[in-house]
Amino acid sequence: MPELPEVETVRAGLAPALTNSKVLQIEILDERSLKRHQAGPADFVATLTSAKILAVVRRGKFLWMPLELPGSATNSKRLALVGHLGMSGQMFLRKPTDEPDNLTRVVVTLETSRAKKVEFRFIDQRIFGSLAIDELVETEDGQPGGYSQTSAAGKWWRNLIPSTAAHIARDPLDEAFDVEKVRAKFAKKRSGIKRVLLDQQVLSGVGNIYADEALWASKLHYDQPADTLTRATFDTLMAEVRRILEAAVAEGGTSFDEQYKNVNGESGYFEVSLNAYGMTDRPCNRCGRAIKRDSWMNRGSHFCPSCQKLRKRA
Ligand SMILES: [Zn+2]
Repeated sequence: MPELPEVETVRAGLAPALTNSKVLQIEILDERSLKRHQAGPADFVATLTSAKILAVVRRGKFLWMPLELPGSATNSKRLALVGHLGMSGQMFLRKPTDEPDNLTRVVVTLETSRAKKVEFRFIDQRIFGSLAIDELVETEDGQPGGYSQTSAAGKWWRNLIPSTAAHIARDPLDEAFDVEKVRAKFAKKRSGIKRVLLDQQVLSGVGNIYADEALWASKLHYDQPADTLTRATFDTLMAEVRRILEAAVAEGGTSFDEQYKNVNGESGYFEVSLNAYGMTDRPCNRCGRAIKRDSWMNRGSHFCPSCQKLRKRA
């Protein structure tokens, strides 16, 4: 499942072509990919056709594109195209003359700001992902909705977020990420830290891979109760989460299976830097003991039994 670095790689790939592009045409090959668009496929096509895409914005694993609708320069309707990758969604940018991609569900043909035609193809093997148009609402803290790289200063959509993503906490790479707020949430949770790291209402963008990596780097057991972390340990954990997410963004994400690809259909390289995730039975890069995989919440937790011991509640 894509996490922050994979979604950021997709966002950064889409942004140059999609920013200030105009929607020419929409082809829906599988209506199931619009299941989150409440008003139905016909409304999706009618709303999006001729709209201008103003930016590509991300918070955690959520991507959205604020829209300027034709004939409404004031944007009384504050809408965005929201893309969920789910487990297996992919977003490719292709030329209209390129070969079709297998399992393409939706094709949006765009005219870029440089008057070139491109196809934004939404591919999804298992149809857990989706595209939808959603209303933008004000952020709770009055800060920017998410990360868009291009300057959002003075733009009407800057401090807005899709209503369906408003409950998602800020991610650790967000400039407005409030580490003290996250610390206070950790201090109130008796559940294991990995569970809290994956709770998108505590902080967003971290999934199974980067949680296992950050816990290995911090020498913490995945089931260590969150409220037992000392101030210093919590700070170490947050610093490792940030460091690992940044390093993975720089490598274009982790290609753990065939599902994740960048917008050109290429894989990321972070898997060569993994120390715990997917390393079952291989020697720990710190102590040499074998990495273990425990079943955990229908998935797995990878850890070093020697470096990452569960510490009893004091
Ligand atoms: Zn070890």
